[in-house]
Amino acid sequence: MIDVAKIRKNFPILTREVNGKPLVYLDNAATSQTPTQVIDVIVDYYTNYNANIHRGVHSLSQEATDAYEQARAKVQQHFNIAKPYEVILTSGTTHSINIVASGFTRLLKKGDELLVSAMEHHSNIVPWQMLCERTGAILKVIPMNEQGELEMKVYHKLLSNKTKFVFCNHISNALGTINPIEEIINAAHEVGAAVLVDGAQAAPHVKADMQKLDVDFYTVSAHKICGPTGVGMLYGKEEWLAKLPPYQGGGEMITEVTFEKTTYADLPHKFEAGTPNICGGIAFGAALDYINAIGLKNIAAYENELLEYATTKLLGIEGLKIYGTAANKTSVISFNIEGMHPYDIGSILDKLGVAVRTGHHCAQPIMDFYKIPGTVRASFSFYNTKEEVDVLVASVEKARAMLS
Ligand SMILES: *Cc1c(COP(=O)(O)O)cnc(C)c1O
Repeated sequence: MIDVAKIRKNFPILTREVNGKPLVYLDNAATSQTPTQVIDVIVDYYTNYNANIHRGVHSLSQEATDAYEQARAKVQQHFNIAKPYEVILTSGTTHSINIVASGFTRLLKKGDELLVSAMEHHSNIVPWQMLCERTGAILKVIPMNEQGELEMKVYHKLLSNKTKFVFCNHISNALGTINPIEEIINAAHEVGAAVLVDGAQAAPHVKADMQKLDVDFYTVSAHKICGPTGVGMLYGKEEWLAKLPPYQGGGEMITEVTFEKTTYADLPHKFEAGTPNICGGIAFGAALDYINAIGLKNIAAYENELLEYATTKLLGIEGLKIYGTAANKTSVISFNIEGMHPYDIGSILDKLGVAVRTGHHCAQPIMDFYKIPGTVRASFSFYNTKEEVDVLVASVEKARAMLS
C-alpha cells in the first residue's frame, strides 16, 4: 500500500505554488519529480567526492568510481541483467537509441526491412529513418487501432525473413498503452529479427526483467523514474554489443591509441566515451533504491486507482474525449474537448496551478492517426492524489466554460 501523504513529504517541489495556486503536477510522463533522497545524493557528491572516474589513483577518484560502478550494479539488478557490462550508462533514451541505430549501419543492406510501431516517440522513429537513409533498408509500420492498441495480427503478417529489426515502446507516452512486448519479441526472434524496446515510459510503472523478456535492447531515461536528467540506460545483449562499433570516439573508450591504430576498450566502456554524467549515474542508482523501497507493484496498483478515478470523472465533462483507451494502460490520459484547442485548455489549467502537457507529445504520427493537432495530457504518478484529480477535473470544467 502507498502512504501518499508520507511520500509527498519526500518531494519538496510539491509544496510550491504556481500562479498563486498550489502546484498540481500532472506532467509525469514528460519528467518525474525528484525526492529528497535523490537530491541529497547529488548534493553529497558535489560536496564531498566530486572527481573524475576510472583513471585517478587518488582517494576522491576512487570513491567516485566505486559509487558510479555501484550505481551500474543497481541498474543491473533492477532490470535483472545478466552481466554488469551489458549496462551502458548513456545520457538517456534518445542517446541509447542513437547508439544502436548508428551501430547497425554496417549490419544492414538495401531491401532489409525494419518494423516500427505506429505509436512511437520521435526518438524511436527518426534514428531508424536516418539508418534507412544510410543503408537503403525499408521502414514499415505496425498499425494501431482506434483504442490505441497495436494490430498484432498485422504485425505477425508483416514479419518475414526480410525483417531485421523491430522497434516498439513498452508503454506509449502519448496514450498510456502497455504493449504486448513479450509477444512482439518472441515473434520477431522466430524470423531472426532483433528487437529494441523503448522502456522510457515503462520504467516508472512496471518492472522489466531483461533475462525473462529475452529482449535484445532496452532503453531507459532516469529523469522519468525520479532520477536526474541527462542520464539513462542502454541494455544490450553481450553478443550484440560486441558486434556493434563504438558510437563516439574519445577518452575512456580505448585501450591503446597511436596515430596508426587505436584499439577499443571492452564493454561497457566501448560505448562510454568521455567523462560521463558521474553524479547523474550515482543519483540514478539512488532513484532506483527509492522506487524499490516503495515497490513498483504498489506504485502500479495505486496509479491504476488514480487512472480509473480520473477517467470516470473526466468522462463526465461534456464534449470530452479520451484518446488511448486500451484495455491494458497506465496512468496517462490524453484528451480533448470538442471545439477547443488543447493549448488553450493547457494555458488555463496553468493559471489554476495545474501542470499538464499539450501538443503532440513527440508522437506526431499518433496525432495524424486521430486527425487532431494534439491533446491535453494528464499523467499521474504515485505522489499524486485523488484530491489533485478533483482539482484537475474542476479546472478543466472551468476551462470549458471559459472557452465555450
Ligand atoms: C521520454 C521518452 C523518450 C525520450 O526520452 P529522453 O529522456 O528525452 O531521451 C522516448 N520514448 C518514450 C516512450 C518517452 O516517454
